[in-house]
Amino acid sequence: MTSARLAVRGLGAGYGGFAVLRAIDIDALPGITVILGPNGAGKTTLLRALAGLTPREGEARLDGDLLPSHDATGCVRRGLALVAEGRQLFPQMTVHENLELGGWLVPAAERARRLAQAFADFPRLKERASQLAGTMSGGEQQMVAVARAMMSAPRLLMLDEPSLGLAPRMVDELLAIVQRIASQGVTVLMVEQNVRKALAIADRGYVLERGRIVAADTAPALLASDAIRRAYLGTA
Ligand code: ATP
Repeated sequence: MTSARLAVRGLGAGYGGFAVLRAIDIDALPGITVILGPNGAGKTTLLRALAGLTPREGEARLDGDLLPSHDATGCVRRGLALVAEGRQLFPQMTVHENLELGGWLVPAAERARRLAQAFADFPRLKERASQLAGTMSGGEQQMVAVARAMMSAPRLLMLDEPSLGLAPRMVDELLAIVQRIASQGVTVLMVEQNVRKALAIADRGYVLERGRIVAADTAPALLASDAIRRAYLGTA
């Protein structure tokens, strides 16, 4: 698989005439890019705008291909997948059924091949294939959400606060999965409030405050920055 490059230029988005994001430029290169920022900065809105779930201005390209604005299916067809905040599983459906839904755009034979791959990549989900998703633990549900997104064989995987509400051990396990996915050639763009752990696995990071990018650098440089340490790591 060849890794994709996301290029975002002049992105703006908002709700009912109220601008939340202004003039956002972001490049997500092969590897892991993390987006940091305080509550309400617009991180979720950014991922939703890129995924076609909310209208936006500006241009977003994946390996040069224009990502359509406000067309979620079109974005999936061009190789983008979003693991939304709160996982958004179908709790009354089984793990197996949730995964199948992630491959709804691909023919049945290819879907079966990807399902087998998902179960190979996530053995715990194979054991639980017939369990209702809503009865899984938080960490297991987040794994289902990631595995479901991978069913569309994305070039760009976006994750919105995947570690939210998980125990520390599960956070580590989940971030290891994200690392593995990136090492397989999928470009990852991740919003994460677990700043230290996210920067430890990321290549680059952006800081979003009040709807604007206020810092962009390599992950080691952000980890070492006094401003980041004060604002997000509780150390100076
Ligand atoms: P958090 O870390 O708290 O999830 P965030 O950085 O992801 O925050 P967003 O969820 O993108 O921020 O919200 C940015 C702003 O947009 C907030 O002021 C929020 O109230 C507003 N907003 C988000 N969704 C909607 C909506 N559906 N309708 C109206 N305003 C919204």
